[in-house]
Amino acid sequence: MASAESATDPLTEHDNLISELANLEKQFADRKLAQDEFLVLSRQLKERINRAEQQAYAQARKDESLARKLRLRNYNDPEVQQVIAHFIGTSGRTLEPEFAADRLPRYPLSLEGEEEMVSVERPILQRMADIGILNETLYERILYCPNCNAPSYVFLRFKCTQCGSIDISINRMIEHLQCGTIHQESAFRVGKNLICPTCKKLLQGREEYRLIGVVCSCNACRAHFEDPAEGFHCRKCKNDFDLPTATVVDVYSYGMTKNALNEARRFLGVSALSQILRERGLEVRSPGVMAGPTKEVVFSLLAMKNGRLIAIDLSQSDTEVDVEPVLELYVKMLEANPTVAIFGALPRLSRRARDVALLHKILVAEGQSPNEIGGKVLEIVETI
Ligand SMILES: [Zn+2]
Ligand SMILES: [Zn+2]
Ligand SMILES: [Zn+2]
Repeated sequence: MASAESATDPLTEHDNLISELANLEKQFADRKLAQDEFLVLSRQLKERINRAEQQAYAQARKDESLARKLRLRNYNDPEVQQVIAHFIGTSGRTLEPEFAADRLPRYPLSLEGEEEMVSVERPILQRMADIGILNETLYERILYCPNCNAPSYVFLRFKCTQCGSIDISINRMIEHLQCGTIHQESAFRVGKNLICPTCKKLLQGREEYRLIGVVCSCNACRAHFEDPAEGFHCRKCKNDFDLPTATVVDVYSYGMTKNALNEARRFLGVSALSQILRERGLEVRSPGVMAGPTKEVVFSLLAMKNGRLIAIDLSQSDTEVDVEPVLELYVKMLEANPTVAIFGALPRLSRRARDVALLHKILVAEGQSPNEIGGKVLEIVETI
């Protein structure tokens, strides 16, 4: 059963394809494969890898365990880390698109210490939303020309229903409620005032009349009609199109929930920390999954030294890391029972959190960077 399941799991398929590709590259490097054959096969494999990846992200929207696996991988991606840094630095301020002259959405990040404005592309945010790091809210819809696939020069057009000209006059129809006269607004209009053409009364308030629609007249063919034909025109490629043939692209704003922020804080910097520990000869697993008697628990990473298991959770904050993630580590320690547990805090723990760590025999490594924390973790590891 388990094997049938994993065969349909797009993430497993993706990983298998990646190792197939690595094999292929090795064969080519060992000159066991001709170049043209290698090129064809590797292109096919890359296409399948892309498809499997897209499937995995689409499926993650409905499958939390798949989403979590993908999140853990994404925390190591520098672009993803940048987006998360924006939310940590701004205490979770919603990321809204800006539209430049080309009408394409861009997402400017607020990043501390960055001289130039960094902005992030929609696809990366979309993927982060697929796997539950971000949540999305519909912000705007943009129409793309179906011919040149750009939104920049698309104009909404109201046209004559008879001859298709855009040279039409749009007149509002007004009813004078007291006497029942219905006429075009222009017949009521005298300077800034509205005066009923029938009873000659000055209409003083919005409650004395109502708008009952529009009547259009075409200045080209003199036709009259109520509702003009609507369509779109792309000035760039001179293409006329309508809603059914237009490409409509949804543009979202993005936010990060407190839960997602807490999880991300635990995993950011993990890859840097893992690397430091590996360089010093430790065996490191990240994420660090350990099986307990009742369930699996996941630490930011797990380091191994002479058969001893060092569970490390890492968390970061713009000011100081408070007590909740320390308590979380304590609960996981009880479940999985590693040899020691270290809490890495970037830049430091709050006083209360430090007291809790001390009480539960959790060792603490604080620092301004994963490097500094790595140094302190190594000092601790020397002593056990
Ligand atoms: Zn166009
Ligand atoms: Zn006309
Ligand atoms: Zn009247």
